[in-house]
Amino acid sequence: MSKLSVITHEAFARHPVPMGHPERPDRIRHVWQALDEDFADLDRHQAPEASAEAIARVHGEYYLDLIAEQEPQEGMISLDPDTHMGKGTLEASRRAAGGAVLAVDQVMTGQAERVFLAARPPGHHAEPHKPMGFCLFSSAAIAAQHARAVHGLTRVAVVDFDVHHGNGTQAAFWDDGDLTFASSHQMPLFPGTGSMTETGCGNIHNAPMRAGDDGAAVIAAWQDYLIPKVKAAKPELIILSAGFDAHEADPLASLNLRAEDFATLTTMIRQLAEDIAEGRLVSLLEGGYDLAALKASVTAHLNALR
Ligand SMILES: [Zn+2]
Repeated sequence: MSKLSVITHEAFARHPVPMGHPERPDRIRHVWQALDEDFADLDRHQAPEASAEAIARVHGEYYLDLIAEQEPQEGMISLDPDTHMGKGTLEASRRAAGGAVLAVDQVMTGQAERVFLAARPPGHHAEPHKPMGFCLFSSAAIAAQHARAVHGLTRVAVVDFDVHHGNGTQAAFWDDGDLTFASSHQMPLFPGTGSMTETGCGNIHNAPMRAGDDGAAVIAAWQDYLIPKVKAAKPELIILSAGFDAHEADPLASLNLRAEDFATLTTMIRQLAEDIAEGRLVSLLEGGYDLAALKASVTAHLNALR
């Protein structure tokens, strides 16, 4: 079976941010353009809102209410200097996490083999007890815990090639040896974590890259270091935090990947899933802030997934 499905929702364009903020609604519109132009044949599904129970598995019982009660009826509030909330933010964030949960359901029930979630805001900076870096809910970690609680899996891996370190996923996985986190990212850069000395209980694998590194360097880090580490952990499901801000045109970072490098990385991660996880692969959109580069990179990513 070779089947890719796509999950998204109109609500992802209704999370407002201040003028000039890079994580803006036009991002998802460019991803939708890519979907409409080249992937209209794929099954497309609506992202549901994540349940309180699914969110609580990572963030605790109190967190959803704490976030929900801060949503303003008009205007915007700031949860931190980068992370804003207006009318529509809660719904978009809940659907981003819920889309990740649905993606897991689809691969676990055989409805799809691979799923791409086109969502915003992203999730990998949200820590268990703290929204951060544009992110409110830790979608990748929520999806991993859902796979264990509802589908009976034991071991899940999140792999993350966003240019920023996925501090939130790392924090959520830190002391659970059945959850593996592997990441390539530029250092030094926001959020400041991601050194090779951060190893959790032996389940965290960080490959920091230097400003100016190109696709070949990042591909080598995955080939020689990260993929063997993930393989050794024998996860039953691979969740990919797919951020495309390592692109050379991205305004927030200084790695020099091109769209074709994301295709290569995607093919390697797809092969990893086929080798050890019965092909189960869930890809979640994280960053990517140059609109044309985001669209081209998502197109390359999906061509490698289909
Ligand atoms: Zn990023």
